[in-house]
Amino acid sequence: RSKAKIIEAERPTTRFSDIAGYEGVKQEVSEIVDFLRNPGRYAAAGAKGPRGVIMVGPPGTGKTLMGRAVAGEASVPFLSVTGSAFVEMFVGVGASRVRDLFNEARERAPSIIFIDEIDAVGSRRGIGGVGGHDEREQTLNQLLAEMDGFDQSSGIVVLAATNRPEALDTALTRPGRFDRQVTIPLPNQTERAEILAVHTADKHLAPDADLQVLARGTPGFSGADLANLVNEGAINAVRDDRTTITADDLGAARDRVLLGRRDTSNALL
Ligand code: ATP
Repeated sequence: RSKAKIIEAERPTTRFSDIAGYEGVKQEVSEIVDFLRNPGRYAAAGAKGPRGVIMVGPPGTGKTLMGRAVAGEASVPFLSVTGSAFVEMFVGVGASRVRDLFNEARERAPSIIFIDEIDAVGSRRGIGGVGGHDEREQTLNQLLAEMDGFDQSSGIVVLAATNRPEALDTALTRPGRFDRQVTIPLPNQTERAEILAVHTADKHLAPDADLQVLARGTPGFSGADLANLVNEGAINAVRDDRTTITADDLGAARDRVLLGRRDTSNALL
């Protein structure tokens, strides 16, 4: 496989305003935006800027979206990769991919590196995972070396996402590496209504389609589930040759998403 397929580089236009709710999280990551806009300001004051932040939360809560929004707000490139892409059968491949990733980030700095499913490469030794023992250890060591080595004044921040923070090797969370952690939980009822509002803003809703009611009826739904629900609702309208989405369309879509979801038995609050 080519390197281009593993590392995705983009210049996102996503803004914080595209993300409903999570004001506290936006507040926390806005310091990264500030740093990326002007890394020299930190260097001039002899301050170390943020280096690595781990976003913790269940699937579909918008961790990738949040990473893109940080890049969009700071108007810097966003280099993303999935942790499992580092883990290969052949010793040395993962480590060289890590090197490629950081080289590319340096060339485009200021920039953001986003590593989804960091636990695939960064889980504690002895806790399963993919790939051979040596391979994973080498890859992790390379990641640690890169994080220790990069020149802060160039402005590179590494964001990582996981839903298994307890599995991470403690070497990763040491000061100067991923020393900040932000939690992105499932949305509560108010936040669900806000997310539904974002995703229906460009659509026609029938007067009977009440987002508050829908928010009440979707406990345990993630942002991704809600986005999916709205789209399914719109598809129901299309099937019926309408451009307006009714309460029935949304209700049927909700049931469909519920059936199609992975196990959420412990998230039904
Ligand atoms: P995973 O861990 O499965 O990769 P994730 O936490 O990275 O998931 P995203 O892929 O960022 O989640 O989110 C999926 C989609 O869900 C987003 O593209 C967006 O459409 C929607 N979404 C999630 N949270 C929100 C939110 N707070 N506001 C608006 N849309 C949201």
